[in-house]
Amino acid sequence: MNDIIVGIDLGTTNSEIAIVENGKTVVIEDSGSKILPSFVGMSETNEVLVGEPAKNQYVLYPERTVKSIKRRMGEEIKVDMAGQGYTPQEISAIILKHLKGIAEDYLKQPVHKAVITVPAYFSDAQRQATREAGEIAGLEVVRMINEPTAAALSYEADQKTHKRILVYDLGGGTFDVSVVNIEDDVVEVVASHGNNKLGGDDFDQKIAEYLVEQIKEESGFDIQQSRKAIARINRAAESAKRALSDKPFVLIEEEYLEEHDGVPIHLSLELARDDYEEMIEEYIDETLEAVHIALKGANLTASDIDEILLVGGSTRTPLVSERLKTDLRLQPRLDVDPDLCVATGAAIQGAMIAGTDVSAAAVLVDITPYTYGTSALGEMNGELYPYMYVPIIHKNSSLPLNKTEVFYTVSDNQEKVDVRVFQGEERDALNNIQIGEFMVEGLSLVPQGNPILLKLELDLNGILDVSAIEKNTGFEKSIVIDNAISRFEEGEMETAKDRIRELFGEEGDGSVIFEQDNKTETHHAIVQARALVEKAERMLDDASPEDREDMVNMIETINDAMNNSDIKALKEPMDQLSDILYYLES
Ligand code: AMP
Repeated sequence: MNDIIVGIDLGTTNSEIAIVENGKTVVIEDSGSKILPSFVGMSETNEVLVGEPAKNQYVLYPERTVKSIKRRMGEEIKVDMAGQGYTPQEISAIILKHLKGIAEDYLKQPVHKAVITVPAYFSDAQRQATREAGEIAGLEVVRMINEPTAAALSYEADQKTHKRILVYDLGGGTFDVSVVNIEDDVVEVVASHGNNKLGGDDFDQKIAEYLVEQIKEESGFDIQQSRKAIARINRAAESAKRALSDKPFVLIEEEYLEEHDGVPIHLSLELARDDYEEMIEEYIDETLEAVHIALKGANLTASDIDEILLVGGSTRTPLVSERLKTDLRLQPRLDVDPDLCVATGAAIQGAMIAGTDVSAAAVLVDITPYTYGTSALGEMNGELYPYMYVPIIHKNSSLPLNKTEVFYTVSDNQEKVDVRVFQGEERDALNNIQIGEFMVEGLSLVPQGNPILLKLELDLNGILDVSAIEKNTGFEKSIVIDNAISRFEEGEMETAKDRIRELFGEEGDGSVIFEQDNKTETHHAIVQARALVEKAERMLDDASPEDREDMVNMIETINDAMNNSDIKALKEPMDQLSDILYYLES
């Protein structure tokens, strides 16, 4: 049995977990709902709450509840929950651990591996933080894929067509647009653009601000002073927004928000869709500008697009479809569930990696939304400038990729160079974001012009490996950018894991015991035994006749034990065979 790899959409507002079962994607329900609000809270009795219960308590106890943590991923901060500070990774880990539990309950087996989606526009630090969150939750993140890519993948799995799709993904806190090419089972993201701080939460905010203003006008009281009232207003704003997706007017009513000079403050007003649309117009404009930037990045025009795929809950806002339709002269598709397609795409990717899904044979080609490079001495405005940006990996290149450029030392006997790595497009490197720096020391003492190769390797998860190599000697120094900007030092990860386990009332390594555990253990033991036998067989020819005889006997004993699924009987011959192999290799 293959280790199942679940697909997780870790969203700002909602999260989902999906698997591929019998060749079909299934979004796993938790208490009857496929959508888990991305809320984490601490109850008054200090129990950890995730999802709907946390969302419900947010109104009453905002100080005991955390929402939209995805917006803080990659930042070096702690958020407060019931008087305790938590890193964004820890809060996200609580959501992931809950989702993992949902899948384990459904599958009746432990889940250790996941594909997690991230916005295409997530930076390296944000991706790294996501990976760390997985690790804290006890999940090996075998792959992170971009959300629009996942959406296209789930769409492709259904449609099997040759098309160019525009994936417009507007969630609660992030916006991405990608141009995706689907051809001969290859899903290729050719360009991506977006804003990782724009989403439906901003729409809520606009309505909330309007409500606060109205209350001020009517009562003279600044309701923002009351955290509790603001939480209620935010919630009312969000439900008003949702209602306006289906009808032209909404009545917003909240009683006893506060008391001011002994007079209770109620809220009751009608909001028209037209007025709401005016409030959010600038945001929609911004998304359309991004659409055109992505099209330009793909060297395409609107007429080259065959389909528009909408992803993310905020695309239910009618203005989104309307504006896209007018702007691109194409009706967006409405038949793909914008809430679930990212999770199902992630599950398909997981199944592809695990080799369990036969129906989804698509090959996924992802891209980097950023340009990465270094700084070097160059000419800027006619003058020598030490921080001229030299792009090495270009935006919209397919992943994984590996690019090398050569640089030369500038002085004789130059024994060290300072390598800086930047993300961005500006000619002046210092105007880009520096994402890593390391000193290469111990270079040969030779005249200037010593060639140094700088190699940038970007893996499928968008994590960057940088190495500097002295060409003439092969002397190498490297960094992994995720380490350079990792929020967790050694030891901190363990502490975070323990802390989260404790919140979930677990002890030890937190592993939950399932009936299937034995089966999995047997499976692991057999895989190991088989690998050992194969290795021993390859080494038989090089062994002395005496050793060979011993090895053949042990291989036989191991094969017998494997055939009987008797893992206890495997141990002794495996230990002995390993000893012989070790001795033969050394
Ligand atoms: P996501 O991050 O994809 O889960 O999207 C969540 C966002 O979609 C939140 O801002 C929700 O308020 C918003 N949303 C959900 N349903 C609707 C709807 N019917 N109309 C407008 N926005 C919605």
